[in-house]
Formats: sequence, structure tokens, C-alpha cells
Amino acid sequence: MKHALITGITGQDGAYLAQFLLGKQYQVFGLLPRRTGNSYERLDYLGIRGEIQLLEGDLNDLSSLIRAVNQAQPEEVYNMAAQSFVGTSWTQPVLTAQVTGLGCLNLLEALRLAQPEAKFYQASTSEMYGMIKQPVQDESTPFHPRSPYGVAKLFAHWSTVNYRESFAMFASCGIAFNHESPLRGLEFVSRKVTDGVARIKLGKQQKINLGNLEACRDWGYAGDYVRGFWKILQHPQATDFVLATGETRSVRDLCSAAFRAVGLNYEDHVVSDPGQFRPAEVDVLLGDPRKANEELGWRPETSFDELIQMMVEADLKRVRAE
Ligand code: NDP
Ligand code: GDP
Repeated sequence: MKHALITGITGQDGAYLAQFLLGKQYQVFGLLPRRTGNSYERLDYLGIRGEIQLLEGDLNDLSSLIRAVNQAQPEEVYNMAAQSFVGTSWTQPVLTAQVTGLGCLNLLEALRLAQPEAKFYQASTSEMYGMIKQPVQDESTPFHPRSPYGVAKLFAHWSTVNYRESFAMFASCGIAFNHESPLRGLEFVSRKVTDGVARIKLGKQQKINLGNLEACRDWGYAGDYVRGFWKILQHPQATDFVLATGETRSVRDLCSAAFRAVGLNYEDHVVSDPGQFRPAEVDVLLGDPRKANEELGWRPETSFDELIQMMVEADLKRVRAE
């Protein structure tokens, strides 16, 4: 039985990845930072909490990471943990740098010291492209991050590449474009919209206040992406891969699709508030997943419309049950 250690196990991707690896008969260990009220909501939603061995540890405490690695003895380590919300990275930039940037370096150090033969996956992000240098971004596109989150992720990305090159560790990055699901945090625009649509449809809310409706993202389904994370670690060589759908849509398109799913018109309910615009915006992201298609046989299976439909249905169910 292979052992996998997942940081960020209680987050969207950590939960789906744990479910996927359990399905492949892995023994799954999850790193759990001590909080006053840890939320197991996503693990419970997927019905897998009891199947995961939770190990206390925090990305910012190197000693706790070494202990967790020694306990789990993992063949594969997936670093999903981060302060992952771009908006918060402007109000908590130092924390974001510590968790999202230095936290990855701590984990690489823990592995170098305690389990250097383990394979390591770093959750890199399309936000590193920021002010894009090419209309379609691939593994060779230069980076220009536009938020403290993007800057911290770039540090983590290059740290991972550097440990691969310095210590011959099997350390790979997936440069994932935005991926969503019914388990996405409510602060992200997709979930904010699908939750709002459900509340409006059920008469509990009138409007959704958003920021920039013209920003475009390459949105996919998280369940498809975790399969890509795993495939990256099964590749014969450690290297980096873009994971994307190859399609981009605006926030306006997202609103239109979500309201259409319940027979409503978004223009009657969505307000764009300039006060909610970001200090620096990433206007458009569009990924080229060809390398992952060709070398890993990975491609997303869920269309944008299917994703939005799935999220709206899940939120209707949740809001009805409240
Ligand atoms: P989430 O925000 O849902 O999950 C983040 C996880 O990190 C949570 O379990 C959180 O625990 C944990 N965490 C936060 N701080 C620490 C810490 N100091 N020590 C240990 N754990 C900590 O993110 P997603 O699941 O959406 O994303 C997974 C990863 O992929 C992240 O690194 C994200 O930046 C990256 N990514 C995500 C994309 C997406 O579209 N979803 C796109 C590209 C990259 P708690 O809840 O207790 O704080
Ligand atoms: P990000 O790509 O990781 O920043 O993912 P988000 O879902 O947080 O944001 C995607 C895009 O939606 C960004 O360009 C935001 O500026 C835009 N956006 C517009 N209104 C909102 C909003 O109310 N909340 C969030 N989170 N994003 C919004």
C-alpha cells in the first residue's frame, strides 16, 4: 500500500485528492494545523473523514513537518496547503508569504532531511502569469505575478524547481488554472455566484455584489484536476505541467451561465461595485494544456456548463436544507 501525505487536506483540492487516492488504495495522511475550530466540512461532504489519518502540523513549523513526514513515511507528498485567496493576500501579505511561500520551502526541507526519496507535488498557479506575456500561457511563458499571493506562489514554485535541480529530488509543479467545485470556498467568485443564485432562486436574497465582471479565467472542475496532480507524480521524470482547459470565460459569462441554470437573467440581480475591484487585476488567463495532454494523457472531462450546473444544483440543495 502506497503512503501519501497531503497538506491542505481540509481544503477543496486536498479533499478531492484524498478521495481520489483512497480510490487507488493509498493510505492517506493529512496534515492538520491546530485551529480553534478545524472544519471537516469537505471531508464529511465526501464521506472520507474516517479513512484519513490526520497528523497535527503547520507549514510554518518545520519541526512539525519533519515529525509528520517521519510518521507518514510517504512515497508521495502533495503540498495543497496555502493562504489561497488572492483578495486576502493584500490584507495579510506577510502571512501569505509565510504560508504560501516559505511554507513550501519548509516542506521541501523536511523532505530533504527526513525522506528525500519521496516524490513532491507543489500546487503552483496560473496567478504567477499575472500580467500575461503571451495570449496563451504554457510552461515556457514568463511570469509576472500581480498579487502578494502570486509572488508567494512564485517563490514556492522556484524553490521546488531549485530542490529538483540542487538535490535531485523528484519535485514537480502543476501550474493549475482556476478549478472549482461544490467544495470551493465561498470567497471565490464561482461559489459566491452559485451560492447567490441558489439564494435568489429560493427567495432568500435579491442581489449579488461583485467586482470586475470583465476579468476572464480558464475555469475547470477540481475533480478533474486532482487526477492531473497524481499523474504528474507518476511521470517518469520530475518536471512541471500546465493544467488547464484551454478555454477562457469572463465573470460576466459565469454569471450568465449560473442564472440561466435556474431560468433567471443575471442582469436583474448582479451588481458590479467598483469598490470591490482589486488593487491590481489579472485581466485574462488562458492555459495551453498540451504538454499534460501529450505526456500524461490528462484532459479535463467536465465542461464549463456542466461545472456551473453541478455547483448551482449543490448550492440549491444546501440552501434548501438550511
Ligand atoms: P483551499 O483554500 O480550499 O485550501 C487550503 C488548505 O490549506 C486548507 O486546508 C487550509 O487549512 C490549509 N492551510 C492554510 N494554512 C495552513 C498552514 N499554515 N499549515 C497547514 N495548512 C494550512 O485551497 P484549494 O484547495 O482551492 O487549493 C489547493 C492548493 O492549490 C492551494 O495551494 C492553492 O493556492 C493552489 N491552487 C488552487 C487553484 C484553484 O483554482 N483552486 C488554482 C491554482 C493553485 P484551514 O482551512 O484550516 O486554514
Ligand atoms: P482568482 O483567479 O484566484 O483570483 O479567483 P477568484 O475567484 O477570487 O477571482 C476570479 C476573478 O473574478 C478575479 O479577476 C476577480 O477580480 C473577479 N471577481 C469579480 N467579482 C468578484 C468577487 O466578488 N469575488 C471574487 N473573489 N472575485 C471577483
